[in-house]
Amino acid sequence: MRSVKCQNCSLGNLEKDEDGFLPCKECGCSLNSTDLPRINKYENYICRSLESLKLEKKFQDAAKLLQSCIDCQQKQKDYFSSYNIHCLQILDLGLDASIDCENWSQALSYTSLLIAPYRLYYPHQSPQIGLLLMKQGKIQLFLKLLKEALTSLQQSGEIIQITHGQDHPLYRDLKDLLEQCMEEMRMTLEFSNS
Ligand SMILES: [Zn+2]
Repeated sequence: MRSVKCQNCSLGNLEKDEDGFLPCKECGCSLNSTDLPRINKYENYICRSLESLKLEKKFQDAAKLLQSCIDCQQKQKDYFSSYNIHCLQILDLGLDASIDCENWSQALSYTSLLIAPYRLYYPHQSPQIGLLLMKQGKIQLFLKLLKEALTSLQQSGEIIQITHGQDHPLYRDLKDLLEQCMEEMRMTLEFSNS
């Protein structure tokens, strides 16, 4: 989906179809014609950035890639939200890079930005959503956000047992994470009661 952030209310998104941008769903305003050249310029910029980020990924320097993703997001954040298909791909790259360099708080901020557009663009029980929730649960577990981790992992499990099956190694990994999470919750509870 090629959408831009509404410059009037900054809450809604203006979606693009073959005839151009549709009015904002939140405030109903249309894209100002003076904004269009700027939007096009920024859209070209993120398309080029996305290509160079994909190239950068091949060099496997996760820290550098993460910084490039953050820089790119900073430059376009006033115009594009994570619902824009190019931005979504940049966020995906940033998430993997932040996991690779074990920057868990950054990784968590990526999963929170990704979850709503994933739910919009992918079917409810798709492997993409199941995997994203599993990543999110794992990150929350690392950050000791145990209640949140439990919810993400349970939601992921409901999807992965359908998309991959209960005998799949991924589902078994998920079960291990769930057990680890519940064990840590039990220990925290015991510790606080002693
Ligand atoms: Zn608006």
